[in-house]
Amino acid sequence: MGGTFDPIHYGHLFAAAEAADELGLDNVIFVPTGTPPHKKYDGMASASERYDMTLLAIAENDRFEISRTETDRAGMSYTLDTLLSMRGLYPQSELFFITGVDAILDIGKWKGPFEITSLCTIAVVTRPGYDNDGLGRLPGEIRRSVRMIGTPMLDISATDIRRRVSLRHGVRYLLPEAVRAYIDKNGLYSKMDGESS
Ligand code: ATP
Ligand code: MG
Repeated sequence: MGGTFDPIHYGHLFAAAEAADELGLDNVIFVPTGTPPHKKYDGMASASERYDMTLLAIAENDRFEISRTETDRAGMSYTLDTLLSMRGLYPQSELFFITGVDAILDIGKWKGPFEITSLCTIAVVTRPGYDNDGLGRLPGEIRRSVRMIGTPMLDISATDIRRRVSLRHGVRYLLPEAVRAYIDKNGLYSKMDGESS
């Protein structure tokens, strides 16, 4: 499961746990993205901070793991390259890429969408208010590689958490306490004036 995880929250963790149960996965590997050359918004936590938060968040679950493959890579990270490296690390394993429906609808813009679908099954978590019908408009080859996860997403987003922190509103119960404490201790997201998303 890839993401910026800025910060990781219970929406991600719950989706990963549901996907693991439904698909009978042995492990879920969380892959925080590297820092894009042009940050999307002011106040984005660094790759190492997002890695640390993800590490704290997965501590409670034996099936959850974390990978440095994207945070160690300079510049843009591509899902295709990550899947190729996973294939190399786990040659005997069946691979699934867990993603929210919002992210998968953009797959046409990703590097090598058809190679991605040949490397893994795409496990899609639906999100209330998002256009699930959009999936039907994806090319057949991609659609055939999609497995829908029955449980819908929790209505939690990292954007909302960052905004709440910057406004000094509480974020307890939206994310693991250890992650909340890390944000607090390191003063993350306290100045977010430039946020546009
Ligand atoms: P942001 O608001 O910064 O975009 P986000 O909450 O969407 O953050 P990302 O790191 O962008 O989190 O998402 C990583 C992956 O997790 C994506 O595939 C996204 O669709 C999925 N995801 C995000 N929020 C949820 C949620 N509440 N439940 C399930 N999956 C989610
Ligand atoms: Mg997102």
